[in-house]
Amino acid sequence: MSKFIFVTGGVVSSLGKGLAASALAAILQARGFKVRLRKLDPYLNVDPGTMSPYQHGEVFVTDDGAEADLDLGHYERFTGVSAKKTDSVTTGKIYASVLTKERRGDYLGATVQVVPHIIDEIKAFITNDITDEDFVICEIGGTVGDIESLPFLEAIRQLGNDLNRDNVLYIHVTLLPYIAAAGEIKTKPTQHSVKELLSVGIQPDILLCRADRPIPEEARRKLGLFCNVKAERVIEASDLSSIYEAPLVYHEHGLDKEVCKYFKIDAPAPDLSTWQEIVRRIHSPEGMVTIAIVGKYVQLLDAYKSIIQAFCHAGIANNVKVNLKWIDAEQADIIQEQLRGVQGILVPGGFGGRGVNGKLAAIKFARENSIPYFGICFGMQLAVLETVRNVLGIKEANSTELDPTTKEPVIGLMSEWMDGDTLQKRQVNGDLGGTMRLGAYDCKLLPDSKVARVYGAPLISERHRHRYEVNTAYLKQIETTGLRFVGMSPEGDLPEVVEHADHPWFIGVQFHPEFKSRPFSPHPLFVSFVQAALERFLEKDNNK
Ligand code: GLN
Repeated sequence: MSKFIFVTGGVVSSLGKGLAASALAAILQARGFKVRLRKLDPYLNVDPGTMSPYQHGEVFVTDDGAEADLDLGHYERFTGVSAKKTDSVTTGKIYASVLTKERRGDYLGATVQVVPHIIDEIKAFITNDITDEDFVICEIGGTVGDIESLPFLEAIRQLGNDLNRDNVLYIHVTLLPYIAAAGEIKTKPTQHSVKELLSVGIQPDILLCRADRPIPEEARRKLGLFCNVKAERVIEASDLSSIYEAPLVYHEHGLDKEVCKYFKIDAPAPDLSTWQEIVRRIHSPEGMVTIAIVGKYVQLLDAYKSIIQAFCHAGIANNVKVNLKWIDAEQADIIQEQLRGVQGILVPGGFGGRGVNGKLAAIKFARENSIPYFGICFGMQLAVLETVRNVLGIKEANSTELDPTTKEPVIGLMSEWMDGDTLQKRQVNGDLGGTMRLGAYDCKLLPDSKVARVYGAPLISERHRHRYEVNTAYLKQIETTGLRFVGMSPEGDLPEVVEHADHPWFIGVQFHPEFKSRPFSPHPLFVSFVQAALERFLEKDNNK
């Protein structure tokens, strides 16, 4: 039977519970276990798909088309296990499911209540779709003490009983603040947070304590005493210079040893050599490359989490540090000035008109100055638009997302596409939630294209999240400019990849390659883009 590990957070938010859960999963995997990670989010949205990145950061997309919390990205990057729809749930989704059952008459005769119906639904989610996993690690979003996380805490408390307490482990991640005036790390907020957990019937088994410095033995002893946890199960998690150090450092502090001891599992020591090599490479780059990212959410870098990580991985692969220069797309008039000296330009995914002119200016600059350009989703659509406007000379060309009545709809709403055997249809005024073309779709690459060489394969599968597409009525005309459509959906009706024949590296992709990059298996497009940016640097040096 699978062992369940529940990760809760206390004292403050943003403690890195997702990272802690991911790192623990990675170490357990390195001990030879099969792991699965899940996220339970207490907010009422059915999924984060309709939330602004400023509210929530990036929306992560799974192969099977879930729009999910960005922590699922960490889970995949640390374990390589592709997350599924069944790995991410919110209060909204739980209620939607209970209410659907109520309308169907499934609870006929019963008064439908939080206890037991909502709690049962949460428990069913946690235990559903598990096969032969040794460990299922579930992270509860939010902070203990929030009103909205109560049903989740109640569900995991009950599971401790239902599944037997020795099959269930509770880890509480807290903060030990350093108070300069006292010259001390303080344990009181953690004591209170554990009290809060105890008040809902959960005794944590392990405390994972975040701190900005090493935790003195005395503080651990004190926490153990007051929180009813063995001192060796009060585990230090101090700040790290790279997130990929977490598996090594947590192992050093005994996290996996305590987990195995708790479950009375006699497991071989973990083989962490892959993580050691990743960390060694991150800390000893042999060069640097500067890539500009032109987007509209540059004030909150969580909005671009997977892209940042994909660049970190591509840096590891190329043995360089990738320095990301964030450029606010809304400052269109000074964009080109800001782009001077960068070795590559990326326009990421996005929605809506704000910042479009800045992005178009950046693309034009990259195209005209032979600077490597990488367009992702919206960044691909805008690359097409830029060429149509400035090379073909169709100045009124637009996307119907930006101008619904444009006379030259080069980018238009996707009205229908095949999702496996199902025909998906969309209309202009349809629902926004969960209705984009989502998840993994195949794409066929032209064998003589650069992108096929980069992938080393003629057929690829990548994750999508978009509502608009390049209008195929314009393809022939666009190709006369040298911008080739080198990747199409297998049916040949949806443009997926463009590249400029007369440019050293100008590639736009309708999908989101960043979601599939991992430190131990970097995404080929990011690796190749960083390499092209490096080569440009060398060329510039040689020309001096
Ligand atoms: N707004 C565009 C669309 O919906 C691009 C989406 C994206 O960049 N993820 O098609």
